[in-house]
Amino acid sequence: MVDETTDVVVVGGGQAGLAVSYELSARGVEHVVVERGRVGQTWRDRWDSFCLVTPNWSVQLPGGAYAGVDPDGFMSRDELVGHLEWYAASFRAPVYEQVEVTSLDAAPDCGFRLDTSDGVLRAGRVVLATGAYQRPHRPAGAATLPEGLYQIDAEGYRNESLLPPGKVLVVGSGQTGCQLAEELHEAGREVVLACGRAPWSSRRLGDHDVIYWAVETGMFDETLAELPSPSARLIGNFQATGHGGGHDLHYRVLQQLGVTLVGHFLGAQDGRAHFACDLAESVAFGDARYNEIRDRITRLCAARGIAPPEMPAPPPFDPRAPEAVELAGLGAVIFTSGFRPDYSRWVRFNAFDELGFPIHTNGASTVVPGLYFCGVHYLRKRKSSLLIGVGEDAAIVAQKIAEHDATKTY
Ligand SMILES: Cc1cc2nc3c(=O)[nH]c(=O)nc-3n(C[C@H](O)[C@H](O)[C@H](O)COP(=O)(O)OP(=O)(O)OC[C@H]3O[C@@H](n4cnc5c(N)ncnc54)[C@H](O)[C@@H]3O)c2cc1C
Repeated sequence: MVDETTDVVVVGGGQAGLAVSYELSARGVEHVVVERGRVGQTWRDRWDSFCLVTPNWSVQLPGGAYAGVDPDGFMSRDELVGHLEWYAASFRAPVYEQVEVTSLDAAPDCGFRLDTSDGVLRAGRVVLATGAYQRPHRPAGAATLPEGLYQIDAEGYRNESLLPPGKVLVVGSGQTGCQLAEELHEAGREVVLACGRAPWSSRRLGDHDVIYWAVETGMFDETLAELPSPSARLIGNFQATGHGGGHDLHYRVLQQLGVTLVGHFLGAQDGRAHFACDLAESVAFGDARYNEIRDRITRLCAARGIAPPEMPAPPPFDPRAPEAVELAGLGAVIFTSGFRPDYSRWVRFNAFDELGFPIHTNGASTVVPGLYFCGVHYLRKRKSSLLIGVGEDAAIVAQKIAEHDATKTY
């Protein structure tokens, strides 16, 4: 691949990069996909017992929708990787695996220069599909934990047996934090879960999964402009799990199991980990989001002239929580406290907003002509980063590139 020139380079061989590749292929646009690991690398990197949180029917990649026998099930990590491998092979996606793009810059003669671990690529257009969830984020207090204490991000977790013995502090109560807390508790660990603000819902509402309702009520079509603030996009998806066939997994479920819920992690001092006195507020935030989906469903059913499902109000919650835990008893700390964009480390264009997200219209950079994005959380809609929604964006990006290709004005 040394010093090649091509019309379009797609960076990233996850679902977003593959979906763009599928749509470009369908339009006859010459392109290559470069992937620093293997196809679906991010999914390969998830923990051993990982399952989708969204049902299998939500895998709606263009030309690669789920067509198996268990649409209401939740694929395991390896099944999903297998699906993506099959998808890439099904349309002969031109993927170069084990090639990392280390720098993206302007090239005077053709548009873009990409320095890679395997030489230089030049292209007229570039699509960045390098992940919805790029760089694990740790709260500031993390820096105060003693160096000798075992600390990892969720990406570093494989299974309970690989952790040092002792109590586990999980920092962050999004889907991942809740799932790891449950798994560790079931494995016999004492677990402290430092909670933040996260939406939750019952897995099933009436005869349907919550994801069905998120689709039908238009919730997944919500745009960034409809959020209370741009930073609201950093709040996670519903606390729930697909593990064991799928079940409820939120603050109350974990508390009943015996996981110790505490407030936001503040940091370590005097041999103790300290937590804010805000557990009640975090749960109230989650309850408010649950009430929103209930309201949406009620309105949808009224509009369709059908009876809404039974959706009980959130039961009372006991917000009493320790404000500190002795570090001496802790075997490990796992951070599951969200992600931030990571483009600025290697993209040499000032094409991003103050949170690091691309400045764009419909995936086309409004700062750098010829630069496109796909798979970004809330790129166009709430579902943009999900298996159910990325295909819609991929088609729009590919169409724009194909139209540009027809005129060749770059
Ligand atoms: C824990 C977790 C659970 C999730 N569960 C679900 C779910 O159940 N259902 C659902 O629909 N969504 C889920 N998502 C959201 C989303 O579907 C995934 O994050 C998905 O991986 C996003 O796909 P992507 O292709 O946009 O990004 P990725 O899968 O991250 O793919 C990006 C690819 O780009 C490569 N790359 C990055 N930088 C470079 C570079 N410089 N050079 C070359 N290659 C590069 C990476 O190796 C990676 O393979 C989940 C997310 C998380 C974090």
